[in-house]
Amino acid sequence: MDLGVALIGSGFMGKSHALAYRAVRAAFGDVPAPRLEIMCDRPLERAEIFASQFGFSRATDDWRAAVADPAIDIVSVTTPNDLHHDMVLAAAAAGKHIWCEKPLGLTLEDGERMERAVREAGVHSMIGYNYTHNPTIQHAKRLIAEGEIGRVTHFRGFVDEDYQADPETPWSWRCLRSRGGLGALGDLGCHLVSLAYVLVGPIESVLADMQTVHTDRPKRDGGRGPVENEDLASALVRFRDGFQGVLCTTRIAWGRKNKLAVEVHGEKGTLCFDQERLNELQLFRNEGHTAVQGFRTILAGPSHPPYGAFIPGAGHSLGFNDQKTIELAAFLRTITGGAKSGPDITEALEYEKVIHGIARSAETGARVVI
Ligand code: NAD
Repeated sequence: MDLGVALIGSGFMGKSHALAYRAVRAAFGDVPAPRLEIMCDRPLERAEIFASQFGFSRATDDWRAAVADPAIDIVSVTTPNDLHHDMVLAAAAAGKHIWCEKPLGLTLEDGERMERAVREAGVHSMIGYNYTHNPTIQHAKRLIAEGEIGRVTHFRGFVDEDYQADPETPWSWRCLRSRGGLGALGDLGCHLVSLAYVLVGPIESVLADMQTVHTDRPKRDGGRGPVENEDLASALVRFRDGFQGVLCTTRIAWGRKNKLAVEVHGEKGTLCFDQERLNELQLFRNEGHTAVQGFRTILAGPSHPPYGAFIPGAGHSLGFNDQKTIELAAFLRTITGGAKSGPDITEALEYEKVIHGIARSAETGARVVI
């Protein structure tokens, strides 16, 4: 099957999508090689440089033309959050499959509109919840499902970074609700929710608090601009299966670079994962002599598919961009008639109802049912 790609955006995620498009057929022989047709960015020169670097046939600064182009089957949306809504709606209307970065939009209503448009257009979608594709996370999911730690009793998760920890980090559009949407919850917290859903299932209700610690920031052209969205948020949650959990996120935790960490406690043991050590899983099982009990480290390897598609030796480690390649392979299989695997827009909307529920609970002081 011949699948033409338009990639919009060439920043952090644009490059990650582009690397995945180049690698996916080489790593996974069962998927078609995408045809890199249109690279779109602004200014045009930026798109042209990136197109030549990655081998796209054409470059443009007009995303509407790229989305509508008849040579395109898949649109990658990797622009800032405030552009996702219009791009996804246009791509769905043009009948294109959509690989869009998280979060879906600025508000829950945006996300709902986007989900409806994609569903009604009957196109396939994949949303950039890449951490759910990590073979280590998929292995943890299997271990929990197979009863390795017994009945789940508690879920704890946090996701911390320090990109806004310095109060003198300049003000940007990201600080505005109208352009950035939610703060730490939209950037980071939604990834944590995605891992919670994959590992232990849906969240039923949340009781939360959130705070903007650095309420203004210096503007590049002088003066200070307001910070409208949250630096951190914490929530007590109740999962649909009855057990409780704690979710915390902050963008101002010095030293934390991608501390997306979870603990799942069960009646027979505990599983721990930390994205800063993404090839490791810590497992404790209550068995054997107590004097030698302890957590064991499981290193990712070929027995944790699809790790072996990249490297034949355990412990040699996959990286962030490999997760993106796995995500793309799953998307291509769905497009070419395989079963859905990974969060499409309908599943992503469920994750994002939780972060918006956390924000609403923090604002009202009441428990919110998702
Ligand atoms: P970025 O600023 O590095 O890149 C954004 C790109 O979009 C830039 O190349 C910019 O020039 C381009 N752009 C902006 N307006 C445009 C327009 N009108 N037409 C065409 N191109 C335009 O941002 P980023 O860090 O890559 O973030 C992009 C998205 O990816 C955000 O939604 C963010 O939340 C998400 N993200 C996801 C992850 C993840 O782990 N899945 C990680 C980082 C960012």
